[in-house]
Amino acid sequence: MTKNHRNESPQVKRVCILGSTGSIGVSTLDVIARHPDRYLVVGLSANSRIEALFQQCLVHKPAFVSVTKENDARTLSEQLIKAGLEVDVLVGEEGLIQMAESDQSDYVMAAIVGAAGLRPTLAAAQAGKRVLLANKESLVMAGRLFMDAVFENGAELLPIDSEHNAIFQCLPKPSVNGRSDFFNSGVRKILLTASGGPFLNTPVEELSSVTVKQACAHPNWDMGRKISVDSATMMNKGLELIEACWLFDAKPEQVQVVIHPESIVHSMVDYIDGSVLAQLGNPDMRTPIAYGLSWPDRIDSGVPALDLFSQHKLTFSVPDLERFPCLRLAYEAMESGGSAPAVLNAANEEAVAAFLAEQIRFDQIPSITEQVLNAHQCNEVSSISQVLELDKHARHEANQFIKALS
Ligand code: NAD
Ligand code: MG
Repeated sequence: MTKNHRNESPQVKRVCILGSTGSIGVSTLDVIARHPDRYLVVGLSANSRIEALFQQCLVHKPAFVSVTKENDARTLSEQLIKAGLEVDVLVGEEGLIQMAESDQSDYVMAAIVGAAGLRPTLAAAQAGKRVLLANKESLVMAGRLFMDAVFENGAELLPIDSEHNAIFQCLPKPSVNGRSDFFNSGVRKILLTASGGPFLNTPVEELSSVTVKQACAHPNWDMGRKISVDSATMMNKGLELIEACWLFDAKPEQVQVVIHPESIVHSMVDYIDGSVLAQLGNPDMRTPIAYGLSWPDRIDSGVPALDLFSQHKLTFSVPDLERFPCLRLAYEAMESGGSAPAVLNAANEEAVAAFLAEQIRFDQIPSITEQVLNAHQCNEVSSISQVLELDKHARHEANQFIKALS
């Protein structure tokens, strides 16, 4: 990656998108395409959807791309040459890391799903980039190490998860590259909203027979399959609770999950004087993506204005931890601290993959995750290699339980 990508002005921010073919990646490209004067796409990546990546290259003409497999890299290189495009094609995790830390980019959108996002996202933080964080799993796995990397390297960490982006917008003074002490400056609680997913009102006894299609059909948001299943079990909210603790230096008891099925209020901050600040909007990820890209300014995201008059009712209720044991497991893992959240994340990823492959039932996702956590001896985590080792071990354990069931 030696060639300098075009001759852009310093005001133009050069953006690299890790996971550009996914739901967040595509929404990011949509926002960027609305502002060619402000943003330039320099890097894109895909795991398996190589044709989609090629099409993105034709439109955005990046300097480099990264794919997982060698043979995909060869095929793509040939296609790009035929199309007359000069694009460096990188491969594997090393390719993603090289992209994330390249001095040809200013902003890195971390939109890979799951643990595969950890090392590239961390590399972006270590390189002092503005990191637009959609990949919540990296904070769940390596919270302390990740936040230290952000502060030590002067990176800017902007939350893209809609709830965290909302909280960020409602907090006293935006602080992205200095440690903030929100809970000593008037914040009483973070109110993390959750839609409750497709099974909020399904009789609990029916959860054992729900299908992959039903679990992936989120009532309000159009997302990738893994996060859709996480939303259905509410593990997504559990991961977000952990994410919020790291991002805003909160204790688990300072984060209250609030069921809000309409997904209009994206989260709130409760202050000691009785004020509650909320961020509202249509459920469309382009809003938080645009805010992450433009902060502290605002830009058009393509999202229509919220029509308050068409909202008949906004409702709020307390989550039922018996219906959603994954949420309880996440609270417990964050309270245990140390290695527990990384184990929770790995076990959940394996259980969700097994459910998507129709090897286990939906209600077995929490039970497998819980069994792996119960068998785990929690300890402190001091390096990324330790996190990766824990991740590998927990996946192995989860697969033992999955095999026993299927
Ligand atoms: P997705 O499944 O639609 O896309 C995932 C992207 O990651 C794809 O580009 C894919 O090519 C890439 N990828 C998958 N496995 C990979 C691997 N092993 N190595 C390299 N690349 C790989 O997922 P998504 O819904 O866009 O979610 C992405 C991240 O954003 C997740 O961490 C999710 O929790 C978070 N997030 C998503 C939404 C949403 O609305 N979709 C909202 C909030 C947070
Ligand atoms: Mg979210």
